[in-house]
Amino acid sequence: MPEFELVERIRRRAAGRGDVVAGDVVLGIGDDAALLRVPAGKLLVVATDTLNSGVHFPDGTAAADIGWKALAVNLSDLAAMGAEPAWCTLSLSLPDGDVAWVDAFLDGFLGLASAHGVTLVGGDTTRGPLSICVTAHGFVEDGRALRRAGACVGDDIWVSGTLGDAAAALVLGAKAPGPMRERLDRPVPRVALGRALAGIATAAIDVSDGLLADLGHVCAASDVGADLDIDALPASPALLACFDAGARRALQATGGDDYELCFCAPADARGAVADAAHGAGVPVTRIGCVRHGTGVRAHDTGGAGWVAPRAGYAHFDAAD
Ligand code: ADP
Ligand code: MG
Repeated sequence: MPEFELVERIRRRAAGRGDVVAGDVVLGIGDDAALLRVPAGKLLVVATDTLNSGVHFPDGTAAADIGWKALAVNLSDLAAMGAEPAWCTLSLSLPDGDVAWVDAFLDGFLGLASAHGVTLVGGDTTRGPLSICVTAHGFVEDGRALRRAGACVGDDIWVSGTLGDAAAALVLGAKAPGPMRERLDRPVPRVALGRALAGIATAAIDVSDGLLADLGHVCAASDVGADLDIDALPASPALLACFDAGARRALQATGGDDYELCFCAPADARGAVADAAHGAGVPVTRIGCVRHGTGVRAHDTGGAGWVAPRAGYAHFDAAD
């Protein structure tokens, strides 16, 4: 199908806030650019992520799952800023104009978009290797955005949901149990939790590259160190069933693609964090504390140091 018809097909399915939700889309798909209204008193929050075939999803991943994930990883970035999602754009590079593929892709993409009241307001459609670039836009009250900087010595470190399933699904391939595979193909952005934590958490990040690496970014931005209890990391029943403790710890601490929120909050905010998690319907687990110094130091419950077995993460290990 030619580009023009594909875009028309996308446009027809991309109704949203212009008509129903918020009235903030003055002009959506169809002109040279979109016209959008940012609410008074709010900051515009913008995040972009690209998914390349074979790099960010295995070859052969279902089109609907790719569509879901392309938006989910961007909404996860907005969640980590404490933002409320509003709009997105979609740049599609497609090897051919396969209508059935695009329709299935849109099922996943627009399904997640409508669940979060996000309107697709524009994009680009080109021929090339399969690649999807999404930009997500949201709002946050001025002064309430969650940044990587802001963690204070003595803060608790928390993580939402469970860690390691997506990386485990990659390791197990076709042998991965359904719920584990789902974590890889259909990550759930923690949007409601991020919103609820705005004004409570001192710093936050979404866990996309592995907990140690991402918590390391929070430490660097906040100019602090972290003590992490490796045995406190939350695991799903599927992960517990499929891996022994050693392999499990490595997947939880260094596996990527979790899209959980890792955040810091003062110890006297534990009740507020619990309320935020309850309200968002997402469990949270306390996994460590912020200390003076630099880097992430992991230990087991007995206090013995734990070093990630993967060489790529050596610079976040117990020695620094
Ligand atoms: P231009 O040559 O001006 O960039 P395009 O033909 O690329 O025009 O786009 C026409 C309209 O269709 C624009 O509003 C653009 O945002 C929208 N559009 C193109 N591709 C997509 C897509 N994949 N998803 C959503 N909107 C798209
Ligand atoms: Mg264009």
